[in-house]
Amino acid sequence: MHGAELSRRLENSKCKLLARRNFIAEGWNALHQAALDAGAEVDYYPPDHPEVDIRDYIDPAGYEALVGSLVQLSGTDLSKLGLRASTTKASIWRWVRKTAAKDAANEWKFLSGVRRRASLMGAFSDYLIEERLAGAPKFPTNPVLVARYGYWLIRERALQDEKPILPIVWGLALIGATWQDYLRIGYCKFCFRRSRPGAMFCDWHSQGGVNEKNRSIAYLRYRRGRRARDLAVERGLGEKLWPSAMARQMAEKLALPDVLFQMKPTSHVNDEYLMLAMALAASPHVVEALGGPTCLDLPYDDLLSLLMARIDPYEWEYTVWPQKIYQAEIWLGLEEEALPGKRGKGIRTQELVKRAINMAKEGRKNHEIAVSLGVAQSTVSRWLKRYPEFNMVRGRH
Ligand SMILES: [Zn+2]
Repeated sequence: MHGAELSRRLENSKCKLLARRNFIAEGWNALHQAALDAGAEVDYYPPDHPEVDIRDYIDPAGYEALVGSLVQLSGTDLSKLGLRASTTKASIWRWVRKTAAKDAANEWKFLSGVRRRASLMGAFSDYLIEERLAGAPKFPTNPVLVARYGYWLIRERALQDEKPILPIVWGLALIGATWQDYLRIGYCKFCFRRSRPGAMFCDWHSQGGVNEKNRSIAYLRYRRGRRARDLAVERGLGEKLWPSAMARQMAEKLALPDVLFQMKPTSHVNDEYLMLAMALAASPHVVEALGGPTCLDLPYDDLLSLLMARIDPYEWEYTVWPQKIYQAEIWLGLEEEALPGKRGKGIRTQELVKRAINMAKEGRKNHEIAVSLGVAQSTVSRWLKRYPEFNMVRGRH
């Protein structure tokens, strides 16, 4: 892309007063940390290794498996650097900065100064069109996949490019522009879904960001979610629906590695597919939400996309989906019960009250009614107060 064009875009991007961010540097911090979190950090047990005062050592094989292209292109010698994580990180960053200043000055200036994610995405689309990257995956709109695309540029594309620094700075910037959000991704306070970064609730139960027209619908969904959550607690379904606090914390911490280094099932795709199909076979509510049994004819990847679109857009970890389908089934059942006018409990209570009234008409005593209907005597007394028709019947006796 021409330098003048990038400069113009940079100026436009700076018009709005936003905190200064260097997306390339953020991307490198994130990628390096993600590699450590994903297992490239050596965890020395302190009593056995008194010489190691801080956890700052990398496992070279693990690190190279995840960020090998950068180690290779920068000519970093991991053992010469004493396998220290911080030294390695600084060394690779020095190479990125130096090489970018030489071979990609315009891109460097633009990407380390741009402040709005939208400006970055626009400029990146142009770069893609211009470069016509061979073997490039389709550029996605989903931000999770954007970060993954950035990783593809660094890991695969950089090794084929005559100027490897170009895909590297773009790749780091794409990760940098999206990673923070994904470290902040959480779980909905009501249901089994993940929540949008920084949000308390999933998109189904959130009331934020909706326009006036949709607000009442959003409120109904929220109330229904709250009722379904109460039902779940009442019935002791919490453990099945919600991961423990510790599991949640782990899942949140590992969010970025999950995004970047996802284990794409290849040889095991049949097993994975079978697990999904089994989970779906036991989950009629989920199948209905996916548009009916024809969803079972879809190939694996399409089925996963459909699950993300209809069930939980923020769950990108493929391997958890079978479990997630069981959770979704429980939840959708609870929400169905929580529908106004369709509540199982409500219908049953009305039916019981009707029968109690009939029994009262026949002159039966409260405790007889209670035993016969299988409810507590105090419940029958409560109905006496609450339902006027009950009282009228009783009044005659
Ligand atoms: Zn929710």
